[in-house]
Amino acid sequence: MPAKTRALIVGNWKMNGLRHAMAEIALIAGGYDGRLRRACELIICPPTTLVHLAAQAALGTRIGVGAQDCHIEASGAFTGEISAEMLADCGVSTVIVGHSERRSYFAETDGDVKLKAQAALRAGLMPIICVGETNSDREAGRTLAVIKRQLVGSVPDDASPHQIVIAYEPIWAIGTGLTPTLADIAEVHGCISRELASILSDRRGATRILYGGSVKPANAHDILAVAHVAGALVGGASLKAADFLAIANGALDLR
Ligand code: PEP
Repeated sequence: MPAKTRALIVGNWKMNGLRHAMAEIALIAGGYDGRLRRACELIICPPTTLVHLAAQAALGTRIGVGAQDCHIEASGAFTGEISAEMLADCGVSTVIVGHSERRSYFAETDGDVKLKAQAALRAGLMPIICVGETNSDREAGRTLAVIKRQLVGSVPDDASPHQIVIAYEPIWAIGTGLTPTLADIAEVHGCISRELASILSDRRGATRILYGGSVKPANAHDILAVAHVAGALVGGASLKAADFLAIANGALDLR
């Protein structure tokens, strides 16, 4: 098993935030001191209306800025859509694809997610590809089968292992305050790691696998310490700088 490297902590603001939320980025930057920078990399994914402002606010802070979705084409007659190239042009380095809210509310399939991940790579962005089981999958003992199916369907098999990130987000844990046991997280992350070894020939564990779902300051350290957990994708608790920084602090002293 690979040693713990610098953790990747990503904040997904979802459809939250007006321009004054840039103050949170300034506060995060203020707390992102040398020790924390050595322990973790931070990326904030605000709504699309704020990505350009956020990229400007983050200049010189070493905080990365990401987006929450992208279209598969680079440009064209797709009213209301935003391409990966447009996001890159705004200073974005990363894009979340296949979040469960997009899979369920916008009927995105594994095939759609793979095309979005390929579009992100084409534009030079790092896709964070989300996978996760429903509560009924979990209760029926189908978690690992569902995750494997999503990975095979959503991960571009010609990607370099270090170019993509996987986020394991059990749907029943998102925004609920519930989390799997640490043993369950270890089991699923181990399974994802083995599956990536076969899809991407990633035998050295170069693809980072994040855990997401009700990560909070109180549980961050324990979750980040689990084998094969390379970081966290944080929703609700990323909206306030103090909480996001407290979660990032959970990565201190892990290596
Ligand atoms: C998410 O939606 O990606 C997420 C992890 O949300 P929360 O942290 O609020 O559970």
